Amino acid sequence: MQSKRKLILNKFLIDGGKNRLMSDRSEKYLINGEKDKWEVVIGLEVHAQVTSNSKLFSGSSTTFGAEPNTQVSLVDSAFPGMLPVINEYCVQQAVKTGLGLNAKINPYSVFDRKNYFYADLPQGYQISQYKNPIVGEGEITLDLPNGSKKVGIERLHLEQDAGKSIHDLDPSNTFVDLNRSGVALMEIVSKPDLRSPDEVNAYVKKLRSIMRYLGTCDGNMQEGSLRADVNVSVRKEGDTKLGTRCEIKNVNSIKFMQMAIIYESKRQVELLESGKSIDQETRLFDIKKNETRSMRSKEDAHDYRYFPDPDLLPLNLDKKLIEKIRKDLPELPDEKKERFIKEHSLTPYEANVLVSEKEISNYFEEVIKSSDKKLTKNWIMGDLFASLNEKNISISESPVTAKKMAELIDSISSGVISGRTAKEVFEIMKETGEDPKKIIESKGLQQKSDPKELEKIIDKILSDNKDKAEQYKSGKDKLFGFFVGQVMKESGGKANPQLVNEILKKKLK
Ligand code: ADP
Ligand code: MG
Repeated sequence: MQSKRKLILNKFLIDGGKNRLMSDRSEKYLINGEKDKWEVVIGLEVHAQVTSNSKLFSGSSTTFGAEPNTQVSLVDSAFPGMLPVINEYCVQQAVKTGLGLNAKINPYSVFDRKNYFYADLPQGYQISQYKNPIVGEGEITLDLPNGSKKVGIERLHLEQDAGKSIHDLDPSNTFVDLNRSGVALMEIVSKPDLRSPDEVNAYVKKLRSIMRYLGTCDGNMQEGSLRADVNVSVRKEGDTKLGTRCEIKNVNSIKFMQMAIIYESKRQVELLESGKSIDQETRLFDIKKNETRSMRSKEDAHDYRYFPDPDLLPLNLDKKLIEKIRKDLPELPDEKKERFIKEHSLTPYEANVLVSEKEISNYFEEVIKSSDKKLTKNWIMGDLFASLNEKNISISESPVTAKKMAELIDSISSGVISGRTAKEVFEIMKETGEDPKKIIESKGLQQKSDPKELEKIIDKILSDNKDKAEQYKSGKDKLFGFFVGQVMKESGGKANPQLVNEILKKKLK
């Protein structure tokens, strides 16, 4: 249904180049309705697959991409009489994640059965946690362009994933693959603290980054390791009461989350402004049509007949275990950021970019420990990132390893090559991964830094251009550039520009 009224999103831009959605960050994200301005309220339920070799209640493998139904134990397929046995490692991973989110760890938690029927759920219920989750309230700090913002975490609980129904292999049959059945998930529920698609982007990225630093979820969205249910409501600007929310199920990319929010919030504003009300529903996002559609009216918790799973004892965590995990936590992005700012004199923005992924921060630290700070920062954030973008690869896939990057930077700071030549060398490195020293040698790119050799060239240029030299001496300062240019040309671009400047100045006095 196409609405005749036009809604304008305040300063909302679609950056087509990178296909990213962004808004003018200095302004509040509001929707201009026909009558009022509306604020968007968003809360996410992120399902993050726990990094673990085996499933939550069975020993089956969790390796991605295996042949269908080859990683299924009798427990995962709900063979009668089979009993689940909790995987202690998954529990530790959940605790670790909770600590990384500055959250309260609940020493006592309970596994419940969430009952529903679906072909890919052989048990007829999902083992989840309901009233007593393993992790309680916490928070995540978002680094936004106009400052930081804290987003509340409501809870984190452990649950099993279901299998997968495959509808598109055959026109009249649905296939079921149980490889995922029983894989451990952490459901991380945010408070309704998010206010724009940009904040959602920052939130998911930060959460993903924290879990990747911790090693508790690989965050691989293409493989379904991180999906979210996106809850959206709108309210008039200034209102304090929350509006009725719709929940958009199972969105598996940040871009789609943002598109779904934009569509859904506009839809809700249109309904409300035309005097209608919002039905609390579960909706799905249709990527092809860029719209959300109703799936079903929202079920309530009591519909699921939650009850404690009689096959599993409540979890009682040893305080010592929690403390041990806390003690062994790695340095997380927020702390690393502060340290980078202090140790390497970075701006908060630069630090944010460099800690955003563990691999990037490791790369940066490896290069900077032996190389010039400013050059390191500029080369990594400039040419290296551009090359990664261009090839759409991650830093760990870069042919230019940290070691080679450090060598390249060192050859600039030691004067072997100029910054300009370094760009040329880098162009080759990013394609072939070759050693910078080898490239410089084989192409004879070393700078001419021998004053005697440079003097010869300079003398030749000066005697070829006596008239100009006279003009310069009598005050035509602009000609200095001309001489530098000629010398560079004569040297095949290899003269050390600093030295050329010095010698020329002396000779033209
Ligand atoms: P359920 O499983 O019924 O969806 P949860 O409590 O697990 O309930 O999750 C609710 C999610 O919806 C949370 O992320 C919460 O922040 C969000 N939420 C709750 N109320 C609103 C609202 N009015 N608008 C937007 N999001 C909301
Ligand atoms: Mg929900």
